[in-house]
Amino acid sequence: MESPAETPKPSDFIREIITEDQKTGKYEKRVHTRFPPEPNGYLHLGHAKSICLNFGIAQEFGGKCNLRFDDTNPEKEEQEYVNSIIDSVKWLGFDFGPEAFYASDYFDFMCRAAEYLISAGHAYVDSQTAEEMRQNRGTLTSPGKDSPFRGRSADENLRLFLEMREGRHEDGSMVLRAKIDMASPNINMRDPALYRIKHAQHHRTGSSWCIYPMYTYAHPLEDAVENITHSICTLEFEDQRPFYDWLLERLADGGLLRRPLPGQLEFARLNLSYTVLSKRILIQLVSEGHVKGWDDPRMPTISGIRRRGYTPEALRNFCERIGVAKRDSMVDLALLEYCIREDLNRRASRVMAVLRPLKVVITNYPEGQEEELEAINNPEDLNAGTRKVPFSRELYIEQDDFCEDPPKQFFRLAPGREVRLRYAYFITCDKVLRDEKTGGIAELHCTYDPETRGGDAPDGRKVKATLHWVSARHALKAEVRLFDTLFTVEEPGAGSGDFRTDINPNSLEILSPCYIEPGLADAAAGDRYQFERMGYFCVDPDSAEGALVFNRTVTLKDTWAKIQKRQNKK
Ligand code: ATP
Ligand code: MG
Repeated sequence: MESPAETPKPSDFIREIITEDQKTGKYEKRVHTRFPPEPNGYLHLGHAKSICLNFGIAQEFGGKCNLRFDDTNPEKEEQEYVNSIIDSVKWLGFDFGPEAFYASDYFDFMCRAAEYLISAGHAYVDSQTAEEMRQNRGTLTSPGKDSPFRGRSADENLRLFLEMREGRHEDGSMVLRAKIDMASPNINMRDPALYRIKHAQHHRTGSSWCIYPMYTYAHPLEDAVENITHSICTLEFEDQRPFYDWLLERLADGGLLRRPLPGQLEFARLNLSYTVLSKRILIQLVSEGHVKGWDDPRMPTISGIRRRGYTPEALRNFCERIGVAKRDSMVDLALLEYCIREDLNRRASRVMAVLRPLKVVITNYPEGQEEELEAINNPEDLNAGTRKVPFSRELYIEQDDFCEDPPKQFFRLAPGREVRLRYAYFITCDKVLRDEKTGGIAELHCTYDPETRGGDAPDGRKVKATLHWVSARHALKAEVRLFDTLFTVEEPGAGSGDFRTDINPNSLEILSPCYIEPGLADAAAGDRYQFERMGYFCVDPDSAEGALVFNRTVTLKDTWAKIQKRQNKK
């Protein structure tokens, strides 16, 4: 990872607040953050923003960041998700210490805290139906109504809570609620639920519990138990902050927690154009078969974009560039693509690969002859050296690089026209051979100029195009998967309310056979290359011996620079 000395420290309102807290000694000069995913899905790019923020701050301030599973909702949570989350955090390059933390490890404490709240008159068991509770909650403009059970004595509440815990009541028949104020202008303060009955198996605690704490109750306690100083979350929790503070203050007053108590800070979540960042919808994309799994390279999950070929460095850089603000906004997908392109431009080896092959026979090149030509591995990194690429009489070029009846702007190969084959020779197209059945172009007959070896004419004559190619006899066959955005509109679902109407039916294109330079025979899953003129590609784990599969990570065309230019002009 880059050291802070090399990169300027990011600055934003959260870091300013923490710097101030360090000055005043509010948290005894400690900085302890956490990243608290619920293990109910795979992590997505929005989570990456939160991870970079929380772990980044801990690194910058010499503090710690916990990875904590907020596993308080047994029905939706699974070990598979826990494992994938751990894997994604590590892949992003962050260290959460020897162990992850689990909210379920604090269930005993949470239950004791609830008993304390009951005995101190701060909580009661409500036996209203869910419907009654909803009706009595009031609205944004009208106050709520007290539950008829609000006046239960502490003893009765303790007894009922114990019965809930012992499994003597049905799911939904009663809940434990905080006793705050049913007329509060903040609906979150109108006696929020703390515990509900749920006879369900938990992925870690099994059947030990049949009551589970509500997120709003559990989360502040998790922070406090772990001595978190700055509890950073997304803006939708802003209205929860008064309850966060109310709860922790009462438990500190009762001696169950130590001061200083953690404080909540909210920032704007990441929204990305053409992308959904909501686990609920991502789960549907997987379960309804719109994609091939959580790690489908079209998915905005960390495992998906990793499989697609993104690097952790590019993703961290993206998160730094988008910054942290207090107001919601939409980030352009082109910026994410810019970040990966910038990174791969520096590190990916260039190779030649023909994705939509058109056969070329060099009629004046002797049959059986072959030679090796020298090619540069990475013009951005001269230490990357050179390699040999075989050349022979039969080659493949891209179908798109030939046009029988070229329009004005088409400078590539055409009948009678001369072009350069990269690192090789000038060739001229003499003849177009057709497939008898289909009438399509079957192959081209060309002649080469032996004087132009390496790609330059000694007489100084110029050509307008340089094409990539591979030797037919030597090339490796491969499958190449090209991706477009999963959705056709910037804000999927915004118009119709259903993301399905905006799914792009052409988000995946599979090309096969494609032909790749033979030097890639030993390429392994995860290896990244630039296919000259075609984009950056990454070897997919579906690859088998002799049957490579590549994912296109990103094209070479930088739309971000254009967008910026346009914005600067405005
Ligand atoms: P989703 O909305 O996708 O269901 P979530 O907020 O329910 O996400 P959690 O597992 O609770 O998912 O998220 C863990 C942390 O990641 C939280 O602190 C949350 O604020 C943060 N987070 C989730 N989505 C985003 C986002 N789009 N941008 C920034 N942070 C996010
Ligand atoms: Mg959440």
